[in-house]
Amino acid sequence: MNSYSTLLENQRTWFKSGATRTASFRTRQLKILYEAIHQYEDRLYAALNEDLNKAAQEAYNTEIGPALSEIGYQRKHLKAWMEPKSVPGMLFSFPSSAKVYAEPYGSVLVLAPWNYPFWLSFVPLAGAMAAGNCVVIKPSELAPATATVMQQLIAEFFDPAYITVVTGDVSVSEKLLELQFDYIFFTGSTPVGSIIAQSAAKKLIPYTLELGGKSPGIVDKDVDVKLAALRLLWGKTINSGQTCVAPDFLFVHSSIADRLLSAMEQVLKQFYPDGALNYPGYPRIISERHYQRLQRLLGSGGKVLLGGKCIDDKRLMEPTVIGEVDWNDAVMKEEIFGPLLPIIRYDDLSEVINQLNAQPKPLALYIFSSNRKTQQRIIREVPFGGGLINDTIEHLGNHYLPFGGIGGSGQGAYHGKYSFETFSHRKGVMKKGTWIDLRFRYPPFNKFNFRLAKFFLK
Ligand code: NAD
Repeated sequence: MNSYSTLLENQRTWFKSGATRTASFRTRQLKILYEAIHQYEDRLYAALNEDLNKAAQEAYNTEIGPALSEIGYQRKHLKAWMEPKSVPGMLFSFPSSAKVYAEPYGSVLVLAPWNYPFWLSFVPLAGAMAAGNCVVIKPSELAPATATVMQQLIAEFFDPAYITVVTGDVSVSEKLLELQFDYIFFTGSTPVGSIIAQSAAKKLIPYTLELGGKSPGIVDKDVDVKLAALRLLWGKTINSGQTCVAPDFLFVHSSIADRLLSAMEQVLKQFYPDGALNYPGYPRIISERHYQRLQRLLGSGGKVLLGGKCIDDKRLMEPTVIGEVDWNDAVMKEEIFGPLLPIIRYDDLSEVINQLNAQPKPLALYIFSSNRKTQQRIIREVPFGGGLINDTIEHLGNHYLPFGGIGGSGQGAYHGKYSFETFSHRKGVMKKGTWIDLRFRYPPFNKFNFRLAKFFLK
């Protein structure tokens, strides 16, 4: 037995004690988590800055704030969600009643990526806690400072038999995946998602995959060009484009393409008066491997229309708009996950829809258009995980929307009530009355019973 199996055994024993079964326990623990984050806020800012050069305000807006909001929401609603839900009985089973019970799975393994290392660990954690599970979090080794602070925070406030953070590289994930967890919640790349799914399938462990892909933006002719430029570049520049739902590339209607480009130029001047590379809170590319990958994509084809400058030894890359690309360029073949924004001009929306439908289904899609028919047509005709009309990214902050991909961009969803559902097994239980027993289902069969069966079961 390695130390991880002992850890899981301890969680199992603790879970069996039934401690997590009550709403009051879960609410109290989420309150502790909420307050612990406040206590660790400065340490988290420092760690996120060390790992990604994130400014404190960006770290709050995109990691700590949304996690606090989610924890508060889970706390407020979990009691109602926990209530067994009565559903109608069936005539065939008369007399009966039925209820759906939400049950915790047991021990949940959360495997998190590096790009929003805090948010993508603590938002699943909040859902798993609200649903009454024990949790093991394995953060990404590529954001080690944040992983260490999260580990300290959890160790200070929670018993490891309830929640713990395990740090280390891929070999640690592999060891954890050998164990019989009760649920696996994975956020990361599509290729690794496939490895996780195969590993979980061998042990029949249920799982959620929150993956990536190329999330398109479509900028139609009926649009407020300046506002579109502002909101698109906000979504592309936060975390320097290292965001799973960043607009990966744009289809732009030819009639407004030049105007959009000059509006983008203005926006970038407004965001970074001395240039992004001189802006103290402009996030760096996480690793040399990813930096080299982005350099390869930058040189892979098309024409740089805006930006393009880099500082190699700091792994900084300007927001860079690239025109004249096609689907054969490397930048259009893989998820960019960085500050490069290729643009394809279009005249015919049908052609855009055909091209998108020839690609893997994306995690997000952004429609910039004030034309309701255009909006509805794209929603109806293009499959995608979730999306936003006339803005980017912010749909993730809505507690009432499920967040998750489809096909190559993921399986399952979470946030708000969807998190509670993801981390709960729904146990359906029927209760039969004993004061009467309809006999037509029992042998010996005869014509009368058959007629009754046909009456009740149709
Ligand atoms: P990744 O897949 O390389 O790593 C994610 C996690 O898996 C890490 O904890 C890592 O240690 C572990 N891991 C890596 N290789 C493994 C293996 N062979 N076996 C077991 N575990 C392994 O992803 P990343 O580079 O950290 O994150 C970037 C990707 O994540 C992008 O594709 C992005 O789109 C996606 N992402 C998706 C979401 C979402 O919510 N859908 C959010 C953020 C990032």
